[in-house]
Amino acid sequence: MLLVGSNEVERYIKEQGIRYFKLEEFLCRCGCGGVVIDSKVLDTLEKLRERLKKPVVINSAYRCIKHNRAIGGVPGSAHIRGYAVDIKALHSATRHKIVEFLLQKGIQRIGVASNFVHFDVDPDKPKPALWTYDRAKHVA
Ligand SMILES: [Zn+2]
Repeated sequence: MLLVGSNEVERYIKEQGIRYFKLEEFLCRCGCGGVVIDSKVLDTLEKLRERLKKPVVINSAYRCIKHNRAIGGVPGSAHIRGYAVDIKALHSATRHKIVEFLLQKGIQRIGVASNFVHFDVDPDKPKPALWTYDRAKHVA
């Protein structure tokens, strides 16, 4: 279910008892106040946090079109439609734990960078897909 706007996201967090994440973490980072996020992404993050037993830091969740363009995100990025998050992951073992968890949960679109792991549930993009960011300068 796509949650659109601060009120819907906040209500979902409250009603579902999401403990480890708050609205602010999903807002567009340009300061526009925009937010769209699929509830499946929230649920997956909450379970991931429980599994890791360590803070899960979100580098990027929803992006408005302007912000996505400004940071060099790919046009039509899953972030624009609220289907994606980038999770900070600086260490090999952490990346492995995250990817293992995502695959167990049936997440079919995963991108691995040296400093974050992206996953999304965009219904309109090819899957299964597992990509890297080693040559590209863009942000998915
Ligand atoms: Zn924005």
